[in-house]
Amino acid sequence: MYGLQKNLPEIKENIEKSAQKIGRKTEDITLVGVTKTISPNQIQEAFELGVRNFGENRVQEFISKYENFDKNTDYTWHMIGHLQTNKVKFIIDKVKMIHSLDNVRLAEEIDKRAKQSDIKMDVLIEINIANEDTKHGVSAQDARFFVEQIHHFSNISIKGLMCIAPIVENAEQNRIYFEKMHRLSVDIQSQNMHNVDMCFLSMGMSQDYQIAIEEGANIIRIGSSLFGYNT
Ligand SMILES: *Cc1c(COP(=O)(O)O)cnc(C)c1O
Repeated sequence: MYGLQKNLPEIKENIEKSAQKIGRKTEDITLVGVTKTISPNQIQEAFELGVRNFGENRVQEFISKYENFDKNTDYTWHMIGHLQTNKVKFIIDKVKMIHSLDNVRLAEEIDKRAKQSDIKMDVLIEINIANEDTKHGVSAQDARFFVEQIHHFSNISIKGLMCIAPIVENAEQNRIYFEKMHRLSVDIQSQNMHNVDMCFLSMGMSQDYQIAIEEGANIIRIGSSLFGYNT
């Protein structure tokens, strides 16, 4: 056995262990296979092994691969990378969820394009949870105000929060950030805003998804340890 066939069962076992630790069900946790740089053939292989959700972070790359899959509605696509306003129109009818909403102009554009396509787009608010200069996202401090600014858009459904945690030596170092994400999500939910339902916490990647699950992640985004590439 090699690559995916070896990696996927290991990851599933780890998900199960972490979920059990906190009394959660494995089925409640969605694995998004991150397919940047991954070929359509490999994506199909992951699909055949049971992966249904796929995350892309560059619009151009996604669009060129999407042609291979657009007739198969069993593939569910997520936009997880930084999204430029002028690219929204290319993905609006192709993805199930946008994980990287972090500014009002982008929200406006998603709302407008969703309206034109007669859909309501599920979005997550990207939080720059460790206040890193190199990362996109709204600061934890501004998150509630940001949601207040955009929750009136009728073709956007705010479904939760997403973060990319810092790169660390030991995954435990990120536990505080995942905890903080969880608390933020509870805080925003408690405001009972129209169009806002904090169903999802998209956090945890190859290095730290087990810790993320223990702190409440229900969407984890895994690339390198699933497909075996190096980032
Ligand atoms: C690449 C990427 C991932 C997956 O990272 P790995 O460490 O390879 O698992 C998750 N989320 C985003 C936004 C990414 O760009």
